[in-house]
Amino acid sequence: TIVTRFAPSPTGFLHIGGARTALFNWLYARHHGGTFRLRIEDTDRQRSTPEAIAAILEGLQWLGLDWDEDVVYQFERAGRHAAVVEELLAKGLAYRCYASPEELDAMRSEQRAKGLPVRYDGRWRDRDPADAPAGVQPVIRLKAPQEGETVIEDHVQGAVTVMNAQLDDMVMLRADGTPTYMLSVVVDDHDMGITHVIRGDDHLTNAFRQTQLYRAMGWQVPAFAHIPLIHGPDGAKLSKRHGALGVEAYRDLGYLPEAMRNYLLRLGWGHGDDEIITTEQAVAWFELGAVGRSASRFDFAKLDSLNAHYLKNSDDHRLVSLIAPRLEKTLGATLSQDDNERLIKGMNGLKQRAKNLNHLAETALFYVKRPDSLSQKAGKILDHQGKSTIEELLPLLEDLKAWSEEACESTVKAYADSHDMKLGNVAQPLRAALTGTNVSPGIFEVMAILGRDETLLRLREIPT
Ligand code: GLU
Repeated sequence: TIVTRFAPSPTGFLHIGGARTALFNWLYARHHGGTFRLRIEDTDRQRSTPEAIAAILEGLQWLGLDWDEDVVYQFERAGRHAAVVEELLAKGLAYRCYASPEELDAMRSEQRAKGLPVRYDGRWRDRDPADAPAGVQPVIRLKAPQEGETVIEDHVQGAVTVMNAQLDDMVMLRADGTPTYMLSVVVDDHDMGITHVIRGDDHLTNAFRQTQLYRAMGWQVPAFAHIPLIHGPDGAKLSKRHGALGVEAYRDLGYLPEAMRNYLLRLGWGHGDDEIITTEQAVAWFELGAVGRSASRFDFAKLDSLNAHYLKNSDDHRLVSLIAPRLEKTLGATLSQDDNERLIKGMNGLKQRAKNLNHLAETALFYVKRPDSLSQKAGKILDHQGKSTIEELLPLLEDLKAWSEEACESTVKAYADSHDMKLGNVAQPLRAALTGTNVSPGIFEVMAILGRDETLLRLREIPT
């Protein structure tokens, strides 16, 4: 059975690129009925923080990428990592290297001066440990093969080959006894039974040495899939100047998790010309063969249009509960039962135009708060004819026996007809007075949902 994993280093927020890696691993596992695991690579004690761990867990939960079994914390496994190195030493497949940092610096300068590739020259590989200088703590290196080649059959990049002579003997344990990333990642992936390593292609070159280590231990090498990185719209590596990089920023801006999943999926993976791909479809269709080989570009307009699509198709009650905290923050008060009912009735009209949840909350505000000012455009509409139109219309609306969308509509239409006015020239002043803005759902729907008392009150007391 298939086992994948997401293995972030908790040094910041959940990066958008990391989220995509997690999504691909999750989809691959779910597609095959396999297992998706989470491992926090917290071995760098200086840079790992509990806040970053929390941000990663929350980000994954928000995206709906649920992992199986307990989270593995890499630092806790340092003893196991060291034990593997002991095994390799015992088998003669690792050795202690006593070269001092100064000595290695000198070696590298010499290599540079001679125009040679800069790499560890294996000076302690076959040396008698009796030569060890006193008081020096050695690092432990892998005794890697020097002949032949190492090939990775990558599921995205194809077969990638390196001559073993080009790889030097990597450090597995540092002088202070702590494991390196290269060691930890291999031991953990093996112990966790990972069958497929799907990650950014910045790790492709690491896969060669990792493969050597699997072989030295006699372990099965997992399948690799190195996916191209995400670039900004300008083609440069995605960075801060392109906009938000953390998943939580998109949540706070009011993107829906399903829109984000759909968007991240399309960053590097395709299914024909399909743009809208639900998570169920993605699980059914996902395969590594369709991952593109070139870097994908972040496209904010596409993310926005997907978000608008998912908002439009979202359940009204859910949307109300998602905007409620935003509205309550603006109001400085909790929403009443009445407020909630209006929002639910109005949601179908509101969501048709919404870009994100923040925008949806802004456009819904008039349902729960009487406008105390007019937008510039609304002000203009009411400056001219608008106000007198409303003054004339008011008594007709006050006389309405039954208040309904249809009743409001026929009254307003009759008024417009009898005054030889376009309907818009009546509807716009109404909209401006009732919502304080010049855009809203259909005005008769708004009047019906606000109800008779609130509508008439707003028409009588128009803010300036
Ligand atoms: N912890 C590594 C990172 O965040 C990932 C290691 C891996 O996926 O093999 O870049």
